[in-house]
Amino acid sequence: MTEIRKTLILGSGPAGYTAAIYAARANLEPVLLSGDQPGGQLTITNDVENYPGFPDGVMGPEMMDAFRKQAARFGTEIHDVMGTSVDFSSRPFTVTTSDDQVFKTETLIISTGATAIYLGLENETKLQGRGVSACATCDGFFFKNKDVYVVGGGDTACEEATFLTKYANKVTMVVRRNEMRASKIMRERALNNSKIEVLWEHNVTDVLDVSAGKVTGLELTHSKTGVKQTVEAQGLFLAVGHKPNTKLFEGVLDMDDVGYLTTVPGKTAMNIPGVFAAGDCQDSIYRQAVTAAGTGCMAAIEAERFLEDQHS
Ligand code: NDP
Repeated sequence: MTEIRKTLILGSGPAGYTAAIYAARANLEPVLLSGDQPGGQLTITNDVENYPGFPDGVMGPEMMDAFRKQAARFGTEIHDVMGTSVDFSSRPFTVTTSDDQVFKTETLIISTGATAIYLGLENETKLQGRGVSACATCDGFFFKNKDVYVVGGGDTACEEATFLTKYANKVTMVVRRNEMRASKIMRERALNNSKIEVLWEHNVTDVLDVSAGKVTGLELTHSKTGVKQTVEAQGLFLAVGHKPNTKLFEGVLDMDDVGYLTTVPGKTAMNIPGVFAAGDCQDSIYRQAVTAAGTGCMAAIEAERFLEDQHS
């Protein structure tokens, strides 16, 4: 007989680990399935400068390692596997993993995060890992003295572009409008960097070239006039936002058009009692490590109260 767990947590970013810390301290003996990127998106970021408590900043992977240790310290059972399906049709819920384990759980906390979006160009996919990347921290090192392009005008784009100047000869940001969405501090840091140039009102419409087996250039198109130009480039970094990792729950759990899970306002509870959502998979507005951790805490407290009500 499969043991029935009180709480199972999907995901291991700030939301998942915080939920685990709170659930473990409330004696819910949580099981946490970390997914295929233990630690989540922060493991592929650089310095985290805005998480309270770290006045000198902290490296993303180091911070997530500390979150994990803290979750484990209170007895969280951590499995470095993916949750591949959830059966919500009967209670307890059944969760199956990528290594064919089956867990039964009374409550489920979903904190599956979000993943970088690509532009959807055919050659972009073909040249992934051959000059196309969505992670400057992971791949920047390979672009020493090269000319690279970063698409996007958000905080991520500014951060990635600034980081890439450590290695690249020149970094060009391709921004589709005539202004950037990024916060003032990030934008100014990028705009004041002499190695960064901004190409306003342009889109990347093709990646060249597949026959060379690596990125050699880009086709850029003016957003308004449609005028095209080809430029030489050795790297293309995507920083055009993220998509929530919620495919597993389509048709079962409430979500918006983009796929962000829709919780009861002001809570983490989902449309199925006993299911809670925390972090970037349900947050299209703030998407910060600290807000993810906050909602992870909320989810654990709500799960604890739900279980109390069930068993009282
Ligand atoms: P955002 O959604 O904020 O920005 C996405 C950017 O990509 C926008 O400039 C957008 O343009 C552009 N874009 C979207 N789709 C396309 C496309 N198809 N072609 C070209 N450009 C496109 O995402 P981020 O990842 O930058 O940031 C997400 C969240 O994380 C934000 O809340 C941000 O503040 C936060 N963050 C904070 C950091 C920090 O404080 N250290 C670091 C990184 C992120 P447009 O504006 O025209 O829509």
